[in-house]
Amino acid sequence: RLRQRLAGSGTLGRGLLGLLSRDQLDEDTWEAIEDLLLGADIGVQPTQELVERLRTRMRVEGDATADARSVLREELINLVDPAMDRALHVTGADGNPGVILVVGVNGTGKTTTVGKIARILVAEDRSVLLAAADTFRAAAADQLGTWGERVGVEVVRGPEGGDPASVAFDAVKEGVDRGIDTVVVDTAGRLQNKQGLMDELGKVKRVIEKQSPVTEVLLVLDATTGQNGLIQAKVFSEVVDVTGIALTKLDGSAKGGIVVAVQRQLGVPVKLVGLGEGPDDLAPFDAAAFVDALLG
Ligand code: GDP
Repeated sequence: RLRQRLAGSGTLGRGLLGLLSRDQLDEDTWEAIEDLLLGADIGVQPTQELVERLRTRMRVEGDATADARSVLREELINLVDPAMDRALHVTGADGNPGVILVVGVNGTGKTTTVGKIARILVAEDRSVLLAAADTFRAAAADQLGTWGERVGVEVVRGPEGGDPASVAFDAVKEGVDRGIDTVVVDTAGRLQNKQGLMDELGKVKRVIEKQSPVTEVLLVLDATTGQNGLIQAKVFSEVVDVTGIALTKLDGSAKGGIVVAVQRQLGVPVKLVGLGEGPDDLAPFDAAAFVDALLG
C-alpha cells in the first residue's frame, strides 16, 4: 500500500538506478546523483554520506558484479536506520492507561492522526479515550468529536477557551478510573513564542503525569512542508521530549527523503506515516518497505 500511495514512488529510484547503471561513473554522474538525493529532501549531510558509501561500494565491488539496485537498497535502508525502536508505546504500568500526547503545528494533521491512532488501537481490542486539549479552537474539538464517532471512541472535551491542561487531566483521570487501556491527547499547536509553547505543553504533561506516565510523545509533521516544517518541528522537540514522529501526507506532494532528514535532525524515529485522509490511512513505518516504495 505504501508503494501505491507514496508520492512520487519510483521516480527517485528510477533516476538513481539510471545513473548508477551507467558504464562510466564519472564526476558528472556522481553530481547528478547528489542532486537527485538533495531534491528528494534527504538533506545535505545524509546525501554526502550516502554518495560516499555508494562511490566506495560501486568501486570496490566492480562494475560487472555490482548490482546497483541491491547496493542502493542496502545503503538507503542503512540511512533510514532500521535499528531504531519504532514501537508505539501504548500500554501503561500498574493497570493505569498508556498516555499518548500528540503535539505539532496546526494543520499538520494532528487531529486526523489522533483519530486514526484510535482506529488502530480499537482494532487491537483496546479501550481508548480521546482528549480534546486544543481548547483554543472550538472547531478542533468538534473535529475530534467527529473522529470519535467515526471510530467509536469517546471524547473528553472542556469549555472553549478553557485550560488545555485541565482537559488532559480530566481525560486521564477518567481513563484511570474506568480502567481504559490508552488515552490519546490532542493538543493545541499554536506556534506562539517558544516560552509560551513550553509552558503550555509542559503543564499539560505535568498534570497528566500526576496520574499516569506519558508513554509516548508523538510529534506530527507534515511531510509536504519539507525543510521548513522541520524547523518548526524542532521547536517542539526542544520544549517536550518527543519519542516518535508521525509523518503525515506522504501521499501528497511530499518527497520521501524527508524521512531521513527528520530522523537525523530530531534524533527520533518516524513511527507512523499518514497516507491519506481516511480512517485507515495511517501505517506503522517500516524501513525496508519504505525504501522499496521509494525505489519503485
Ligand atoms: P491539525 O490542525 O494538525 O489537527 O490538522 P488536521 O488533522 O485538521 O488536518 C489538516 C488537513 O490535513 C485535513 O484536511 C486532513 O484531512 C489532512 N490530512 C491529515 N493527514 C493526512 C494525510 O496523511 N494525507 C493527506 N492527504 N491529508 C491528510
